[in-house]
Amino acid sequence: MNPVVVAVAITGSVPRKKDNPAVPVQPAEQVESTHQAYEAGATLVHIHVRNDDETPSSDPARFAAVQEGVRRHCPGMIVQFSTGGRGRDPSQRGSSLGLKPDMASLSTGSVNFPTIVYENSAALVTELAGAMKANGVRPEIEIFDLSHLHGARRLVDEGLMDAHPHVQFVMGVKNAMPAEERLLDVMLAEMRIVLPGATWTAAGIGRFQPIVMDWALARGADGVRTGLEDNVRISRDRLAASNAELVSLAVDQIRRRGRRPATPAEARALLRLAPA
Ligand code: ZN
Repeated sequence: MNPVVVAVAITGSVPRKKDNPAVPVQPAEQVESTHQAYEAGATLVHIHVRNDDETPSSDPARFAAVQEGVRRHCPGMIVQFSTGGRGRDPSQRGSSLGLKPDMASLSTGSVNFPTIVYENSAALVTELAGAMKANGVRPEIEIFDLSHLHGARRLVDEGLMDAHPHVQFVMGVKNAMPAEERLLDVMLAEMRIVLPGATWTAAGIGRFQPIVMDWALARGADGVRTGLEDNVRISRDRLAASNAELVSLAVDQIRRRGRRPATPAEARALLRLAPA
């Protein structure tokens, strides 16, 4: 089986620093935390940035600072910007795509989140996909519900995306798709019909992080995702010390399944990205 792309979502947009002070918020902290995660085996970093008051930011200067630091300190690592919506003006969600990160996340439909509706109108999805295509940014399609696979298929049909996107199933967000093993099978069966050329990964939120990872590995996933954006705890009694600690645990899980983490060059080849 292919080696496994280990993605680390270092920060997120929910104010978690109060839950775990290890969540990196300022660009210098984010670069340092990413570097540690890279040394532990991560080959893809998913990036949100924050304002000085830790609210979600769309400031291209912050995205640029993190991208530049990661490129300098983590050779070959795949840089992925979030275009996610929590706390951001929709018109600003694509504002950093001109910095040409390797990838960007793209949600292809709307869904309920714990306290808000995460709105992704068809028009906004079209706009973001078009901006990604224009900038040569490969999308990672975020699947919070079944119809989002069909939202991605629409983009292929309309020529806004090629037939080989990277798909991520997100499970365990309150009010969205529950973390149930049978639902991953439902989603995968549908993906193989609708997007047969896709690579895929899965993210479990909160305490579901390790179990969703194991379900994905058991099904031959191309990648796994970990990081403090999704989960700040090792156990009920213990906070994660760092993004790197979560990556180390992911690497242990990958090896227990008889697989190994991808190198940066392998990760780029798997996800159809140009060499660094
Ligand atoms: Zn994110």
